[in-house]
Amino acid sequence: MTYKEPAPLSKTHLNPFESMMSRFDIAAKALGLDDSSYNVLKSPAKVVMVNLPVVMDNGKVQVFEGYRVVHNANLGPSKGGIRYSMDVNLDEVKALAAWMTWKCAVVGIPYGGGKGGVKCDPRSMSKGELERLTRAYTVSMIDVFGPEKDIPAPDMGTGPQEMAWLMDEYSKIKGYSCPAVVTGKPLVLGGSLGRVEATGRGVMVTARSAMAKMGINPVGATCAVQGFGNVGSISAKLLATQGLKIVAISDVTGGYYNAEGINIEEAIAYRDRNQGTLEGFKADRISNNELLTLDVTVLVPAAMEDQITAENANDIKAKLIVEGANGPTSWNADEILNGKGIMVVPDILANAGGVTVSYFEWVQNRLGYYWTEERVNRRADRTMKMAFEAVYAAAQKYNVSWRIAAYVVSIDKVANTQKFRGVF
Ligand code: NAD
Repeated sequence: MTYKEPAPLSKTHLNPFESMMSRFDIAAKALGLDDSSYNVLKSPAKVVMVNLPVVMDNGKVQVFEGYRVVHNANLGPSKGGIRYSMDVNLDEVKALAAWMTWKCAVVGIPYGGGKGGVKCDPRSMSKGELERLTRAYTVSMIDVFGPEKDIPAPDMGTGPQEMAWLMDEYSKIKGYSCPAVVTGKPLVLGGSLGRVEATGRGVMVTARSAMAKMGINPVGATCAVQGFGNVGSISAKLLATQGLKIVAISDVTGGYYNAEGINIEEAIAYRDRNQGTLEGFKADRISNNELLTLDVTVLVPAAMEDQITAENANDIKAKLIVEGANGPTSWNADEILNGKGIMVVPDILANAGGVTVSYFEWVQNRLGYYWTEERVNRRADRTMKMAFEAVYAAAQKYNVSWRIAAYVVSIDKVANTQKFRGVF
């Protein structure tokens, strides 16, 4: 199961958009994508930049830079989160928007890709300031957003409260209540059961599918999980229910190791009593890099981008990596992992359970009828399993890694819709 792929761009440092494009280029080549489709798909369809004046609590007006990028809307309305962070910049938003196009296409939900962001430090802002900023952003994007056009969701620095403000502002302007304009809402406002666990659940389902293909028995297989937030802790909890022994977990305070296996329910309860961190949790202390290079069967990076790089990829011993986080493997580590025969369920597939249940939230909002958690989970599991099988088949057909196969499946789908729709 080792592959030799063409080397991506030769530069050592790529910005996020170039990094996305380096994999896109490999997949486009494998697929034999024609120049016209390539040119359409490499460019975002719409880029909106705004400056948002907000009255701060001290009475002064501060102006915030805001962005919304629609990368592609061939398959349906564009979908993607809104990030509040000081690192927000146009290149990053463009890359994240394109990733959403591929993510939605790979799981077969009828959405294109979009992403938004505001350059701000949400932790230093009061609730009132965040509310005014979110409402100002919504007003400035009133012609971009819409249940049939572009549907935002939470991302780093935003959550159900921001989505509730966005839905409220949008609804006020339209003159009727419009929950389907945004997903990730609080349950009482039309959020979906199962959304909180959806991403970790998808990680578990795709990990199981991958293990089955690789002939690995999940019972007794060992696993290390980097990051113990929403995605990491739920992935760990659900993988443990499948018989895996979670020997290491970590968060921003470092890594925690126990060769006998960590009781994940206890770790979650500890984190929740301890201001959200594992600091002081009873286990052997290791560093985050040591966690990544442990001799385990499955490694789940579920913290942040660029954790597995050309520097540490050679030391990775896991047989299978399942990418809970977005972009945890830098482009220049791909070839090293492939060379070592390490299989990777890529982010655009592994963590797409979240956007899948966001889609179910939108469907339920439009139906005005709400599903049980059991129905949400059953449909999400089916979607993730089918997506994995499609990627696996493409990997066999084109003799490429699962990562490139995931891009091949999605680029092919989006390019095909482009052909049918035509270019005016
Ligand atoms: P979160 O904020 O709930 O958790 C992040 C975790 O990572 C925390 O435990 C934090 O302590 C830890 N962390 C931060 N820096 C770290 C470091 N240097 N080393 C080790 N751990 C570190 O975030 P989340 O929602 O779980 O998201 C995690 C990743 O998954 C992100 O890349 C996100 O984009 C991606 N993702 C999330 C969802 C979702 O539904 N939440 C969906 C798709 C992708």
